[in-house]
Amino acid sequence: MSNPDEHVLLNFVAGEWKRSTADAYQGVVNPATAEVLASVPLSAASEVDEVVRAADRAYRSWREVPVVERVQPLYRLKVLLEEHLDELARTTTLECGKTFGESKGELQRGIENVEVACGMPSLVQGWTNEDVARGIDEHVFRQPLGVVAAITPFNFPGMIPLWFLPYAVATGNAFVLKPSERVPMTTQVLFRLIEQAGFPKGVLGLVNGGKDTVDALLDHPLVEAVSFVGSTPVAKYIYRRATANGKRAQCQGGAKNPAVILPDADLDMGTRILADSAFGCAGQRCLATSVVITVGEAREGFKERVVQDALSRKVGFGLAEGVQMGPVITAASRERISGLVDQGTKEGAKLLVDGRGLAVDGDEYRNGYFVHPTVVDEVDPASTLARTEVFGPVLSLMHAEDLNEAIELVNARSFGNQACVFTSSGAAAREFRTRARAGNIGVNLGVAAPMAFFPFSGWGESFFGDLHAQARHGVEFYTQTKVVIERWPASWSRQF
Ligand code: NAD
Repeated sequence: MSNPDEHVLLNFVAGEWKRSTADAYQGVVNPATAEVLASVPLSAASEVDEVVRAADRAYRSWREVPVVERVQPLYRLKVLLEEHLDELARTTTLECGKTFGESKGELQRGIENVEVACGMPSLVQGWTNEDVARGIDEHVFRQPLGVVAAITPFNFPGMIPLWFLPYAVATGNAFVLKPSERVPMTTQVLFRLIEQAGFPKGVLGLVNGGKDTVDALLDHPLVEAVSFVGSTPVAKYIYRRATANGKRAQCQGGAKNPAVILPDADLDMGTRILADSAFGCAGQRCLATSVVITVGEAREGFKERVVQDALSRKVGFGLAEGVQMGPVITAASRERISGLVDQGTKEGAKLLVDGRGLAVDGDEYRNGYFVHPTVVDEVDPASTLARTEVFGPVLSLMHAEDLNEAIELVNARSFGNQACVFTSSGAAAREFRTRARAGNIGVNLGVAAPMAFFPFSGWGESFFGDLHAQARHGVEFYTQTKVVIERWPASWSRQF
């Protein structure tokens, strides 16, 4: 059955769409207009129990399905996602605010994870030694865990669930998703496609909600593993509570990503790439560059160019023609961003471009949560603005005399999601990539997002756990190894 009332969002339990019995609902808001698009239930613990128990029942037979058969619904899902790309992207833009092109881009990265997981027959292979002693062989098998859950953030409603879901089910687990309550509509479209892809009922479940819904998943005895992406304080909380309950956990947190520009860099290319990194998706990417550290003579050239770029960027509704940047997610987020810029100037920084309080074209967008690109210079590395994740289109500039000082500034942060360097020197790039403390490094790149066949790394306060999302790390996270040692004495074969 498809959704009977598209304004009230549904859960997907045991392969059926189900209206929640929750007491509390929350509005889903278009951040470009402040208009309420739909109503999302904050599901209760009893509903979490229902979806997890259905997943557990489905898991018992799903894990026995040969891996070559388990990946067949994923092949179908890939085709369905491609066929419905525009519908998914429009939905993402409406609820999340990013441009239509950005929404399509994130979905494409999600689809790539489905493609990689289709290779599970090879990825999940164990290993074997024959004759570890006379007549004795030893093997490692990978077996699924059971029911696994993912809790995802607002900024990539299409891609981030697909960092986990394909690997979890292809390895033989059942999977329950709790999407962000701020952007739950993309997931409704995704699960309509999942319904058509032909997974057995219950293998994939969807439960909408907020903190109480998450806590019920973290405490449920049948949930074996938890994948989380979101802010650092919540990532820490989820990691602690999940692991205290004996579950595996991989929790990706927030970021504060620096980029270093050396004097030998191609400044035109570097500025274009870094402005896209800082202002793309309205700065609401965990791989957005938030601090640029210019070295030596790069200082003035970069400053002039990035100011021009910031002033020229067209801001507006993400589905409108020519718009390069949408709104931020909520009014509270806009106020928070504005407050951090004020704090920065109080602590000595200089505003080069102030993007706050500016209107966008179109009367229907006058209530939207827009912040235009903002550039702040001479930011003190010890200031609040330098240390706090802004998650908005605000670029802070710092300066260093040489590469060594720049790397020290990079490594003075508690976050470790990404660090980038712009240079035409291989030796400088090599030194940077060796010494910079971050899980994802970009050389002449501004958004060093790992492809689906590499793990999405993250260090320090940006990641809690050991196995990351995507690719082999995903396979290892969702499986446990079983070691089998067998003795088959040759003398026994003589009886045949
Ligand atoms: P968030 O932490 O507010 O919410 C993420 C999820 O956690 C949501 O599903 C939400 O319902 C749930 N949640 C929120 N508060 C909770 C609580 N107190 N207890 C239990 N569950 C709770 O994050 P967000 O604002 O949706 O997303 C933005 C953040 O995500 C940024 O910090 C960004 O850097 C980070 N992020 C990180 C990565 C990465 O790969 N490291 C990727 C994307 C986003």
